[in-house]
Amino acid sequence: MKSALHEVLLIKTGELALKGLNRGTFEAILMKNLRYRLKPLGPCTLRKAQSAIYVEPESPSFDMDEASDRVSKVFGIAAYSRACVVEKEIGAILEAAASYLADELADAGTFKVEAKRSDKSFPLQSPAICEQAGGYLLERFPHLRVDVHAPDVLVMIEIRDFGAYIHARQLPGAGGMPVGSAGRAGLLISGGIDSPVAGYMMAKRGVELCCIHFASPPYTSERAEMKVVSLLEQVAAYAGHMELHIVPFTHIQEEIQRSCPEDLFTIIMRRFMMRIATEIGRAEGCGALVTGESVGQVASQTIPALACTDAAAGLPVFRPLIGMDKEEIIAVSRRIDTFDISIQPYEDCCTVFTPRHPRTRPKLEKVLEAEAALDAPALIAQAVQGVRRRSI
Ligand code: ATP
Ligand code: MG
Repeated sequence: MKSALHEVLLIKTGELALKGLNRGTFEAILMKNLRYRLKPLGPCTLRKAQSAIYVEPESPSFDMDEASDRVSKVFGIAAYSRACVVEKEIGAILEAAASYLADELADAGTFKVEAKRSDKSFPLQSPAICEQAGGYLLERFPHLRVDVHAPDVLVMIEIRDFGAYIHARQLPGAGGMPVGSAGRAGLLISGGIDSPVAGYMMAKRGVELCCIHFASPPYTSERAEMKVVSLLEQVAAYAGHMELHIVPFTHIQEEIQRSCPEDLFTIIMRRFMMRIATEIGRAEGCGALVTGESVGQVASQTIPALACTDAAAGLPVFRPLIGMDKEEIIAVSRRIDTFDISIQPYEDCCTVFTPRHPRTRPKLEKVLEAEAALDAPALIAQAVQGVRRRSI
C-alpha cells in the first residue's frame, strides 16, 4: 500500500536553528550537507519552508529506508519523519491516513490523532481535523480505541505549504550543529577506539574535520592504514566528506629513539605529532587540533604529559574525551559503528616504539633539553613533504 502513496521525509530543524548562528546560514549549510549525503541515492528535491525541510524523491527507485538512515546521522536536525503527502482535501487526507499507517494501526491497540494547521487557509481547524480523522479511523479499524495519554500509534496530520503530510510519531534527529557551521579542525586519527569517537563528537558541534594519521612503515602495514580508512568511512556518515593526510613518521621515530632518553620517547614523539599536525592544519584552514586523549588513560595522558604535548602545538588542542571513562567512550563507539573496526588487531606507530618505563610526570625543560639533540625543523619539513592524501 505504502508504495502507491507519495512518500517524503519531513525534517524539523526546530529550535536548534536559533542557537548562536543566524538561521539562514545554519539552514543553508544543513541543506548542503543533506544534499551531499542523499546524492548517491538518486535524484530528489529538497525544499525548505516553515522551519522544516522536505526531501521528495524523484523516482520510485529512491531507497527511502537508506535515506531515512542517512538523515538520522546528519547533525543539525532535531527530529524527522517519513510521511506521505496528499492534496489538502479532507477526504484524501483521511483515506491516506488509513492506508499509509495501515500496518501500524492494524498492530496497535490504541491511537490518537494530532493535527497541525500551518496553512491557515485550510477550511477545517485542527480540532475538527482530529475529530474527523479519529472517527474515520475507528470505522476503518474497529478494534482500536482512542488513548490521548499514551497511544500505541500517534497519527500526525500536518497541513503545510506544499500539501497535507501524514505520519506516525517522529524520530529523534542526530541533534548538534550542521557540520561546517563551526569551522574546521585537524583530527589526529589512530586506529584505536578513542580518536574516531573524538572526531564524531567535534563533528556534532558543527566542526568540519581534516584528518591526520601518522604511519610508520615498515613497522606498520598497509592494513593499519586501511583500518584508519574504514574507521573514517564510519565517521563520515556523521561528519561528511574528509581529507585524510598520511604522514610518514618512521624516520622521526627512529631519530628520537637514537638520540633521546628512552623514558621521554613517547612524549617527544607526541610533540612531533603536534608540530606536524599544526603545519598541516594551518595549511588546510584548521583553527584547532583534536585528539582522543582522556586524563590518566595512559602514561602520555597525565596532566604534566598533556601540558608538554600542548606546549608543542601551535593551535588550540581540543580533547572532547578528556573526562570520559573508557566504558563511556566504548558505548559511543558502538553506537557509531566504529568499535568493531577499532578492536581489530593491528600495529600502531606508537605501540611499535613504546618505551618500557615511560615518564608520567615529564618536565618541559628536560624534554626541551632532550629534543635539542634533534634537528626538529628539518625532520618536520621532511615529514610534511612526504604526506600522502586520500579522500574519504
Ligand atoms: P586511540 O584509541 O584513539 O588510539 P589511545 O588511547 O590509544 O587512543 P594514544 O595512542 O596515546 O591513545 O593516542 C592518543 C591520541 O593521539 C589518539 O587519540 C589520537 O588522537 C592521537 N594519535 C595516536 N596515534 C596516532 C597516529 N598514529 N596517528 C594520528 N594520531 C594518533
Ligand atoms: Mg592509539
